[in-house]
Amino acid sequence: MRLINANKVSEIIKDALIKINYELDNSLVTMLKKAKDKERSTLSKSILDDILQNQEIAKSRKAPLCQDTGVAVIFVEHGLDVRIDGNLYEAINTGVRLAYDEGYLRKSVVKHPFNRENTKDNTPAIIHTKLVEGDKVTFKIASKGAGSENMSKVVMLTPADGIDGVKKLVLDTVFDAGGKPCPPIIVGIGIGGNFEKSAMLAKEAILRDLEDSSDDPLIRSLENELLAEINALGVGPMGVGGETTCLAVKINTFPMHIASLPVAINIQCHSARHLEVVL
Ligand code: SF4
Repeated sequence: MRLINANKVSEIIKDALIKINYELDNSLVTMLKKAKDKERSTLSKSILDDILQNQEIAKSRKAPLCQDTGVAVIFVEHGLDVRIDGNLYEAINTGVRLAYDEGYLRKSVVKHPFNRENTKDNTPAIIHTKLVEGDKVTFKIASKGAGSENMSKVVMLTPADGIDGVKKLVLDTVFDAGGKPCPPIIVGIGIGGNFEKSAMLAKEAILRDLEDSSDDPLIRSLENELLAEINALGVGPMGVGGETTCLAVKINTFPMHIASLPVAINIQCHSARHLEVVL
């Protein structure tokens, strides 16, 4: 049985959270540059230019990309032949605490829905664990801001709603969100499972590689169609109108009950901060 020191877990969580809050992924920057070149309106172009300049400044000065440095969301895929020599959840939360303190990241987590008292260290992280084959532990580490999260939703469609019902729901959700989730956005969609599983699928979908597409030909074509149709809505960068509302649509699916068609839509803003680390 392979053994991993719990301190190592805290260290990689801390380093990853600081890095993703200071630097946008290269593929995302490339997409934003292409979008800027394509935009015809001067205002939309200048907003994309501001976003690009902002990420350059954040990277060079080691400052957060956005004032909302989010809630830490960690997906853990834990191999059956490896063990952490300590409490995994405590190790992750220690990493979060250190990152938000040492990285000067805003602490955005409150203890209670109504008294709104800040926990003062951005813990607890939202942690999802899955057992997998092998002797590695994979951490998918994200900082998720509230602006885009608040525009997300889970809807229980019926099988009769079909693909057209899913498309209408996604387009209505993105259109109604307008500029609030800070477009250009990435749209993660979970279809199937049940109420909570669809939300997990959608969250995992926004953590997928920006360049990839679904292995399922039908879902892949739905991803492409939705990307084109969302961009045809004309919401544009930060909602000022234009051709770039969305950079990518990612759909994850799961088997479901014969009478259900659960659909979750998780919207990710342009400040898409996530990283995968394997121990
Ligand atoms: S939606 Fe994203 S870019 Fe907009 S304020 Fe929130 S974290 Fe920042």
